[in-house]
Amino acid sequence: MTVAILTLLLLTALLIAWWLHGDKLRAAYYRRREKPLTDHQRRQLAKDMPLYPRLPLAQRRKLEGLMVSFLSRVDFIGCEGLAVTDRMRLLVSAQACLLLIGRDEPAYPTVHSVYLFEDSFVNKAPHYLPGGVVDTQGKHLAGESWEDGRVILSWAGCLHAAAQPFDGENLVVHEFAHQLDQAKGLATGAPLQQSLPDAKRWQATFQEAYQRHCQAVRGGFYGLIDPYGATDPAEFFAVLSELFFERGADLAEAEPDIYRLLVAFYGLDTRSWH
Ligand SMILES: [Zn+2]
Repeated sequence: MTVAILTLLLLTALLIAWWLHGDKLRAAYYRRREKPLTDHQRRQLAKDMPLYPRLPLAQRRKLEGLMVSFLSRVDFIGCEGLAVTDRMRLLVSAQACLLLIGRDEPAYPTVHSVYLFEDSFVNKAPHYLPGGVVDTQGKHLAGESWEDGRVILSWAGCLHAAAQPFDGENLVVHEFAHQLDQAKGLATGAPLQQSLPDAKRWQATFQEAYQRHCQAVRGGFYGLIDPYGATDPAEFFAVLSELFFERGADLAEAEPDIYRLLVAFYGLDTRSWH
């Protein structure tokens, strides 16, 4: 009886401690799992991601710190028989954390799992078409970002994105830009800003550029920005983020106001990378 009461008291104390200090305990637990990158991992990353060795030293060190934290906390799950390797974990985390190297925040605290497919995958959720038609065949996709902290990626797409750092397309940057947008809930193309004036500036500049892009796509005269950006404001933000990290100078020339907005948001000027 005494043992039962003591056990109950101990469990109650643990529950109270978890309730009061859960975040700190979790952070301490994950900090113990953090391991600095080895030279072998750095060499592997430099081979797969030519941008990594080109980054200024301070940004490279910041990237590595974010990766170490990300890798200690996020589960990587191979799908349809894919065996997840250290190379895969490295390359996904490096490209995901690239978005944060100029920002003062931890590495995606809301992301808990990355699902990797060898190549494209099929989203089997019913797709509602105009006229009430329901398409249950599914669409082949390279990536998805879910609001509950899951990201789904094609490994072939991750490899290609890293190997071609200046073509203006990057699957991982795209999906993790959605995660930044989704940190507040639904992806809307208006990620959280530092202040109300920043949010108002974002809204005005971004909306104007989005409407202009939609009009250009309807007329068939779009330029640098992928027509997929006209899908909705969330996709516009993700597509612009890909350009910002891969073709910063071109974006600055084509859309100087948008570029300035992204420089303020990402805390970076990427023109010097290319
Ligand atoms: Zn998207």
